[in-house]
Amino acid sequence: MSISRFEELVASFARLPGVGKKSAQKYAYFVALGDPFFGQNLAHQIEEAVRFLHSCERCGFIAEGEICEICADELRNHDLLCVVESAKDIITIENSRSYDGLYFVLKSTDELLNLERAIEQNGSKELIFALTPGLASDAVMLLVENELSAKLPELKFSKIAQGVPTGVSLENIDLLSLSKALKDRNNI
Ligand SMILES: [Zn+2]
Repeated sequence: MSISRFEELVASFARLPGVGKKSAQKYAYFVALGDPFFGQNLAHQIEEAVRFLHSCERCGFIAEGEICEICADELRNHDLLCVVESAKDIITIENSRSYDGLYFVLKSTDELLNLERAIEQNGSKELIFALTPGLASDAVMLLVENELSAKLPELKFSKIAQGVPTGVSLENIDLLSLSKALKDRNNI
């Protein structure tokens, strides 16, 4: 392996979120020379993941088919629709095992129509906001509620309880606090 090939690999690892130059060098060395079998396997897994995984058309979570396993699961509580900022937040909430409703990933307020469609498709009765607490998410909640309550007067709105500290994203909250925040959610 030429040095430039190695440097290219380091540069690619360094582009991953949260990976600095030093870690990138360690990873590159490990996959190319330390454990080439693992390296091959990892390359294959990445290739397969990129090829087969995409965002669920309904909620934005990770899916292999048109819709994800959560949206397709008829045993889940279709009354509840939890609005989160990213697919990672769904994994966090799923790990807390404190919620059995459905989700919607709201990346921006441009996606209100998609949210409305998800509410209709799922027959949701309550929208639970599980956004990183702060002024920005307060504005998002207000906007969503204003837009939707006119069209869907029966829809209830709630947000996870204040146990979640301001500015701290869901993935950094311990699971116990998260399940409490979901259980003690407040109507808005
Ligand atoms: Zn889905």
